[in-house]
This record gives sequence, structure tokens and C-alpha cells, in this order.
Amino acid sequence: MSAITSFIQVRPLWVSQVSQSLAGAQGVRLRFLQQINRFYDLLLQAIEQNDPRQLEPLLVEWSEARSHTDLDDTGDTTLAVLLNKVLLTTVEILQAELTAAEAWEALVAMLPIYTHALAFASQRETQWQVQHVSGELEKTRVELERLERSKSDFIAIAAHELKTPLTLIEGYVSMLREILPPEYSQQPPTDLYLRGIDAGARRLRAIVDDMIDVSVIDNNLLSLNFQPVWLNRLLAALQRELAETVAARRQVLTIRDFPGSNEMTFGDGERLRQAFRNVLLNSIKYTPDGGAITVDGRLLPGFIEITIADTGIGIDPEDQPRIFEKFGRLGNVALHSSGKTKFKGGGPGLGLPITKGIIEAHGGAIWVESEGYDEAKCPGSTFHILLPILTQPPDDKSARLFQMLLGAERQKSLYGKKTR
Ligand code: ADP
Repeated sequence: MSAITSFIQVRPLWVSQVSQSLAGAQGVRLRFLQQINRFYDLLLQAIEQNDPRQLEPLLVEWSEARSHTDLDDTGDTTLAVLLNKVLLTTVEILQAELTAAEAWEALVAMLPIYTHALAFASQRETQWQVQHVSGELEKTRVELERLERSKSDFIAIAAHELKTPLTLIEGYVSMLREILPPEYSQQPPTDLYLRGIDAGARRLRAIVDDMIDVSVIDNNLLSLNFQPVWLNRLLAALQRELAETVAARRQVLTIRDFPGSNEMTFGDGERLRQAFRNVLLNSIKYTPDGGAITVDGRLLPGFIEITIADTGIGIDPEDQPRIFEKFGRLGNVALHSSGKTKFKGGGPGLGLPITKGIIEAHGGAIWVESEGYDEAKCPGSTFHILLPILTQPPDDKSARLFQMLLGAERQKSLYGKKTR
């Protein structure tokens, strides 16, 4: 008997047992019968023509429709697993129903077809899984992007909405100062109230400005005003600006004279000052009274690395990347004290994202190192800021402007020398 005749002989038994092994539920089994019969026809065709590719269209259909997923009760529903089950059932039937020689002949004819079908099914399924996972990832990415956008839009709208009433408060306070006779406006308790409103409005203004900065950075709209900058001068100015605050917290702020700090580089002085101010204010804020903050640095090829180290509460390694994201403030909001420079004084969590935006707009980088968060042991944190040394402004307009200025400066000195 030929292999084909053997297969035709066992067909009714094969169809019933294979559908039983693949589909536990009666309803599913009935729906599946047509597919099983198609599979059998194609298997015979493949053996007859000695062409294992005959089964491919059906396998493609199965893998695309994932029609097999409701067929297997064990939960193990890959196409390859199902094909293996079909193979096992077939071998069992051939052995039970045919003589050893007939079974052997049928098996030899069938095995290359199954081997090809198995390889093809695994490949299809892997492709399908990769496509599926990529699709899901893409959906998640789009959703995250949408959430990020709404966060950014919310900040921009809220900042805009807060600005109007804030301007009104500031305007009315200065009007009150104008119209009230000095014996009122400069005497307690009126002066206290006016100063209180002033201080509150200033704090609110700083928050609104931060919100605007974050949305400008988010939308890649930060434009830098490149000018010559000397880091030692910038840091010394900040030291003077923060001296009162540092003294109030009985801390010591040391700014070392590190290599490269007195070299001229091009940068946006105002923005860089804002970035360093944010990091220094955080160091003051997250370091207990009496602590130390040290600014140091080193010269690297093409870059200056500035470090701002404190003896404060530290930051858990797993939180370290998070603090540079907007609203990345850590800890329980309810436990934060208020105030911009008080110990653990709360803020909206916008300072470091702005700082990162400014530093990155300069072509630099910022990161933090800390052993971990421990309010008792205070392991401290060290912020690293890497800035490229720019010998001329990166944009053509500023470069031309500075060339003109330098040219004029040179001419002035030449002219000055001649006339003397
Ligand atoms: P905030 O307005 O909360 O200060 P920032 O963006 O400036 O926002 O900082 C984000 C968070 O990073 C802070 O809430 C704080 O938890 C943590 N952090 C920043 N600097 C330090 C530091 N020097 N020591 C410990 N924690 C810090």
C-alpha cells in the first residue's frame, strides 16, 4: 500500500482524534472540523507532489487569524505546539491502524512535510510576535507622547492663567504704596502686610516664570544669547547673591579656583547663572543647617566639568534620573516644609528640568551622584555639570556681532596708540 493510500485509509479516525486533541469543547471542535479537513487535504497534496510548501497558505491563515487560540485547552497555543500535537496523534494512529512497514512508509513520506511546516510556523509566529510587540510599543509611545504633551500644555496654560491675576496683585500693591501716606505704608502693621503680599507675589512670579521656562524648553524654543562668560566670575556673583541665605542656614559655601574656571567661553550668562543658581539653591535646601557646599571643577579636552557637592540628605540611585524630569520632586509632598531655602523646602519640581534644558541647550550635560537617601547619615549629593568650551558663539549672528565688536575694539586701541 502506498503512503497516500495509507493516509486516505486512516483519514476519518485522524480527523476525529486530531480535532479532539486540539479542541476540548464540542462547539469549537465542530467549527474546527473544516479547517482540519483542509489541513488533511493539503497534507496529502504535499505528500503526493513531494512539495512541503503546500501547507504554507493554511499556516499563514492560521497564524494571522490566530484561529487556533481558542482551540487548545492547555493554554499553550503556539502554532508550533499545535502542529506537534497533530504530529504525535498522526504517529499514534499510523502505528495503531497500519502494519509496521506501512506505518514506516507513511511516516517517511510525511516527516519532511511536517518538518517544513513546523519551521515555517515558528518563523511566521516569531514575525507575528515581533510585529505585535512593536505595534504595542508604538501604541504606548504614542500614548506617552500624548500624556507628555498634555502635561506640557497644562503648564503653559496654567502659567498664562496665573500671570494675569499676579500682574493685578503686583500692580495694586505698588499703587497702594504710591497712594498711602508714608506714615501708613512704611509703618507697622501696613508695611508688614505690603511686604507680605510683595514676598508672596514674588514667589508666585518665580513659579510662573519657571512654568514658562519649562514649557519653552519642552517645545524646543529656548533661545540662548551667547556672550563671553567666565565661570569664576559667574560663580563668585552667585556666591555674593546667596551669601545671606547661606549664612541664615549656617552653611559654608566654598567655591574653589579650579583649572579652566578663569577661561573665557561663550554661553548665555543669564541662563547659566539661572542653572547654577537652581543647583546651588537645591544644595542649600537639601542640606541640614551647618552643612557644607563645595563648588569645584576640572578642565577636560574641550569641556569644563563643574561639580557642586553638598553634605545633605542624598538621593537614592533609582531616583537620580527622575529628578531631572518635570515634577520630579521626591518624597511626600505633605512633609515638605515651605520656603525656597528652608531645609527640605518644597518646590514644584521644575528647577532641575530647567537646569538640564539650559545645560543641554549649551551642548552640555548634567547628572548627579549620591550614595543614597539618608536623612540621618546625610551622605550628600554631587551634581556634575559638563559644559563645552566655546571659543566663539555657535550661531552665525552672534559670531558676526562679536567679530565686529572685537574688530572695533582692536581699531580703537590702534587709534588710541597713534594719537597718544
Ligand atoms: P524642587 O522644586 O522640588 O526643588 P527640583 O527640580 O529643583 O525641584 O528638584 C527635584 C527633586 O530633586 C527635589 O524635590 C529633591 O527631592 C531632589 N534634589 C534636588 N537636589 C537635591 C540635593 N542637592 N540633595 C538632595 N535631593 C535633591
